[in-house]
Amino acid sequence: MVVIRGATTVACDEKDEIRKAVKELLEQIANVNLLIKDEIVSIVFSSTSDIHSYYPAKAAREAGFEGCSLFSAQEPDIQGGLALCIRVMIFVEKDMTPRHVYLRGAKVLRKDIATVYSVAIDGPAGSGKSTIAKRLAADYHIHYLDTGAMYRACALKILEAGVAVDDEAAIVDLMRTVKLEVSYDETGNQHTLLDGRDVSEEIRRPPISMASSRVSKHPSVRMHMVEKQREIASKMSCVLDGRDIGTFVLPDADFKFYLTASPEVRAKRRYDELVAKGNQVDFEELKAEIIRRDEQDSTRAVAPLKRAEDAVLIDTTDLSIDEVLGRIKSYMQERI
Ligand code: C5P
Repeated sequence: MVVIRGATTVACDEKDEIRKAVKELLEQIANVNLLIKDEIVSIVFSSTSDIHSYYPAKAAREAGFEGCSLFSAQEPDIQGGLALCIRVMIFVEKDMTPRHVYLRGAKVLRKDIATVYSVAIDGPAGSGKSTIAKRLAADYHIHYLDTGAMYRACALKILEAGVAVDDEAAIVDLMRTVKLEVSYDETGNQHTLLDGRDVSEEIRRPPISMASSRVSKHPSVRMHMVEKQREIASKMSCVLDGRDIGTFVLPDADFKFYLTASPEVRAKRRYDELVAKGNQVDFEELKAEIIRRDEQDSTRAVAPLKRAEDAVLIDTTDLSIDEVLGRIKSYMQERI
């Protein structure tokens, strides 16, 4: 006997809405697990206590899931738990590896076993993207992909090879010969590898920041990176941060956020970060560089830094990391 799990949320506690959500959930589970209804022994639902207009088990029967035992239970109230949520366990008489299905707002429940989903976080330098993306990925047990690190590694390689940052053809030739990889350690931290060499720390140096912005404007360099980013995101659930994730890399990302903050605050964050790592930096110079880099990133012809129309805008100027994270999570949990 195999148990397939799933969950979904409803927009409101109404019979038709519950029917629709249950039908969608069961059909998706049946589809991805290649189930025929006769293989289902029983279906057990549990729903949050704010759902009482209709029994999910009745909805399942109406959706054609007959010939198996059906049962609905109600869960107690759990503070901070997901609202208007229906969970299901399907017992199947078949030798198979179950594929669990989490839909709508329930996608945030079991990120580790849900179908692959992605969270796009874009914004200018110092807006808090990487800190937030890292924390979010850790909390949901999914991967974090720092796409800026890929452009930075490319810039480092170019500088080391003595290739001019404006020579697009030479850069593309060089990148074809380089093995650029992203790996993760046991604590989930991303490591960026250039021909097997871990350059994660080196690429954070200020000269690399500016060079990466100049390098990233070349269309063929971008396509090279974007292809890798799309490939990673298609295989595993992840939070990606960058400039063009919601607009270009993954226009169909499940969740999109655009973080921003005043240039002053963004420069201060970068300054503190660099100083903490033992770098000597001039605040005014750093601020001017950030402004220049934003300008360069926002005005390039291909996939410029831009808020996707459907991205949630969060100004982080006066918000703590926990506050930003709280907003993102509650948005994700409420989203249907
Ligand atoms: O985010 P980070 O500061 O590490 O990015 C370095 C540079 O890489 C950016 O200034 C930008 O020019 C480029 N980049 C990009 N697209 C992304 C991520 C970064 O063009 N998705």
